Amino acid sequence: MTAPTPLIAGNWKMNGLTASLAEARAISEGVSGAKARVAICPPAVLIHQMSQALAGGPVLIGGQDAHTDESGAFTGDVSAEMLADAGASMVILGHSERRDGYRETDELVARKSLAALRAGLEPIVCVGETLEQRKAGQALEVVTGQVRASLPPELLGKAFAIAYEPVWAIGTGLTPSIDEIEEVHLAIRATLIEMFGDAADKAPILYGGSVKPANAAEILHAAEVGGALVGGASLKAADFLGIVRAL
Ligand code: PEP
Repeated sequence: MTAPTPLIAGNWKMNGLTASLAEARAISEGVSGAKARVAICPPAVLIHQMSQALAGGPVLIGGQDAHTDESGAFTGDVSAEMLADAGASMVILGHSERRDGYRETDELVARKSLAALRAGLEPIVCVGETLEQRKAGQALEVVTGQVRASLPPELLGKAFAIAYEPVWAIGTGLTPSIDEIEEVHLAIRATLIEMFGDAADKAPILYGGSVKPANAAEILHAAEVGGALVGGASLKAADFLGIVRAL
């Protein structure tokens, strides 16, 4: 199997104003020689300015969500086409904050993945178990079930990534053990191969949940970890670059 090119993506969530473009510039200037593709996913309103500020540089830009439809009467929503038009090349879909806070289901995430493909965006599809599910021994079943139901068959042969983000590890400072991370990542890879055959080798499986410069090397070198989705630590260039350089 060919190891996929790792991807390290920063999820800025609802953080960042125009002044934060300076942080994005510092990230762009600091990533030369990185062993991973590096992306920043800022709030949608910053994508256009950020893509102009970082034009010609190594950092990719992504959205944090996209509507299923191309356009229409959906007040407050942003389509995948709009993200691409603003300068994004990828989009995070099915983040647990959306699955939980906005009741997004696997079926909806699958439809959003199709919308991303339609717009030429690489979807980063998030999956992950809650603490209750992990304690009940259901982590593998939950996560592989989410993978099966959130990825449409049309992704075959297309660029996409999975982000394994245990819900209880996001923004908490808690992380699973390396053995636990590897167990889930291996199960995700096996599921992808069942679904897409050998083509599934190319999809990186990112780990997300309290990744910091101090724990990045160990996590990024674990079996089947193909990069990271980073929340809090992506807001400061020094921290994010510390993670990128840990690979
Ligand atoms: C995230 O929200 O995708 C995330 C991984 O957050 P944090 O790194 O802050 O845990």
